[in-house]
Amino acid sequence: MLAEVRPVENCLFCKIARGEIEADVAHRDDRVVAFHDLNPQAPVHVLVIPTRHIESLLELGPDDRDLVGHLHAVAAGLARELGIAESGFRVVINTNRDAGQSVPHLHLHLLGGRAMEWPPG
Ligand code: 5GP
Ligand code: ZN
Repeated sequence: MLAEVRPVENCLFCKIARGEIEADVAHRDDRVVAFHDLNPQAPVHVLVIPTRHIESLLELGPDDRDLVGHLHAVAAGLARELGIAESGFRVVINTNRDAGQSVPHLHLHLLGGRAMEWPPG
C-alpha cells in the first residue's frame, strides 16, 4: 500500500490541491481545483485538476466519467469568467512523453487570450 500512498504525498498538484504549495487559485469545489499556470503560455493559462490523484487520462476508472465532464464544465465556466469565451480558447490534456506531460497528475490546460496555431507543435 505504501507504494500507492507515496507518489500522492509527493505529487506537486496534490500538494497544491491540499494547499501545501501556494498557487493562484481561480476555482475550487469539492472535486476540482483550478489555478493559474506558473509559466503561462498564453495571456490566460489555467490548470484544472481533480482534487483526487489521478495520474493521467489513462488511469480513469468507470466511475470518473462525471468527474471528467465536470473538469470540462469548470474550464468552460472559467473561460467565461476570464473573458476568453467569445474570442476563443483551447483545452489541452497532455498524456505521457510524446505529448510532454511533465506532472503526473491529470490536468486540463485552459489557454486563451491570443490566436493559436493548428496543428500544435
Ligand atoms: P504538463 O507539461 O504536464 O502538461 O503541464 C504541467 C504544467 O504545470 C506546466 O504548464 C507548468 O508550467 C505547470 N507547473 C509546474 N509546476 C507548477 C507549480 O508549482 N505551480 C503552478 N501554478 N504551475 C506549475
Ligand atoms: Zn497528485
